[in-house]
Amino acid sequence: MMEQVRVTVWNENVHDRSDDKVKEIYPEGLHGAIAQALRADEKQRFAVVTATLDQPEQGLPDDLLARTDVLFWWGHCAHNQVEDQLVERIYNRVMDGMGLVVLHSGHYSKIFRKLMGTGCRSRWRESDDRERLFVVEPGHPLASGLPEYFELPGEETYGERFNIPTPDVLALISWFSGGEVCRSGCGWHRGDGKVFYFRPGHETYPTYYNPHVCQVLRNAAAWTAPSGGPKPVYGKSAALENR
Ligand code: ZN
Repeated sequence: MMEQVRVTVWNENVHDRSDDKVKEIYPEGLHGAIAQALRADEKQRFAVVTATLDQPEQGLPDDLLARTDVLFWWGHCAHNQVEDQLVERIYNRVMDGMGLVVLHSGHYSKIFRKLMGTGCRSRWRESDDRERLFVVEPGHPLASGLPEYFELPGEETYGERFNIPTPDVLALISWFSGGEVCRSGCGWHRGDGKVFYFRPGHETYPTYYNPHVCQVLRNAAAWTAPSGGPKPVYGKSAALENR
């Protein structure tokens, strides 16, 4: 069997323990549902572990981060509790080739804003809007196995402008029944690594059980995984040719 991509699903795990509605939808936490979507991969491409903010070293000690090929990130109300020193360590791993998949309200996490270099804010509203996600780059690996469009019957609304740098690949765009649109599946190269942002996943909706959403999560893990390319050498170098 091909070597598995080592995925760590990190969740701040706050609403999941404090809000009865969220507990009912995600009894194993959001991280549990996200991990399950990855483990359900029919080719078994991913070896998945979960980590949460309340654990020692905020869930991501050096040795775990060092053996993580792709890190999934769900955060919302505890962004500021994440230590700058951990943000720096994640940033360095991305520069070194680790993939990072930032979900939903993670757009305002310290690590995503640091990697993007912009404000990363959008309009938002919680009004049970229907969300329709269109695949706009059907030939891209991020679109693998998806229909032309799919719908989520209820979600939190995010609307443009979403203050991100122009994505290197824009795979999905969302429309909401309230009239907004939002870039909802965006990929970037950062250093030797790749970053993917996926918009849906508000904690009070069963979004991470939707089969198309689960497919996007698997596509994101596969696309952001290290490519096995050459390790760049920087600094003063001898000539490659004898002149
Ligand atoms: Zn939300």
